Amino acid sequence: MNPRVITIDGPAGAGKTTISKLLSKKLGCVYVDTGVLYRGVAYEIQRQGIDWENDEALDVFLKNLDLNFLMENDNLVLLSSGIDITNFIRTQSISMLASSSSAKPQVRAALLDIQRNIAKTKEAVFEGRDMGTVIFPNAAYKFFLVADLSVRAKRRYDEMPGDSKDINIVQKEMKIRDRNDSQRQSAPLKPAIDAIEIDASFLTIEQVVEKMLKCIDNA
Ligand code: C5P
Repeated sequence: MNPRVITIDGPAGAGKTTISKLLSKKLGCVYVDTGVLYRGVAYEIQRQGIDWENDEALDVFLKNLDLNFLMENDNLVLLSSGIDITNFIRTQSISMLASSSSAKPQVRAALLDIQRNIAKTKEAVFEGRDMGTVIFPNAAYKFFLVADLSVRAKRRYDEMPGDSKDINIVQKEMKIRDRNDSQRQSAPLKPAIDAIEIDASFLTIEQVVEKMLKCIDNA
């Protein structure tokens, strides 16, 4: 039998990463943040100065791309051709570039096997945008996490380092990403028909995980 897969999809800032980490800890399995892969693609596009809107250039770039991730003390480490790029992928510009370049079907196809291969050997909580709809349509449990835009923007703003930050810009860019992610043709952000939707706007992380564990126990 295949190892059990649990998926958590939803928009940016809904709390997916914190919740996936805690849920996987409670279940004694691994968690996989698939956004890291799209951020890795965006980072390499930016670093190598790739004209990613040009299909030919994008295809050559993807052919040479070598992304991998490993877990180190509970944290995901992203390697590009063996070099640790984890610390460079959380900027606003990478968030925006990840959102636009991830709409390209070739980018999504290039990352498909990395994600599915993990699930061949490990029980895992996978978080992203298309986990329950495209990558793992047969997942054992699927959750779709939502929260008000203002709550999500505030959360992201609080997580950001430095003083030169502006909550209005964070919220505006989040709205653009929401639109990009849910309106694209290829694997748009949407709940799978069999996903359980949870609104986390007024719930603590523990309350959300509690709800998820109840669904898993009762299934
Ligand atoms: O989850 P995170 O905000 O790190 O993801 C960055 C971007 O990567 C998202 O805005 C989305 O466009 C893309 N992404 C995706 N599919 C996933 C995970 C992330 O398209 N499974």
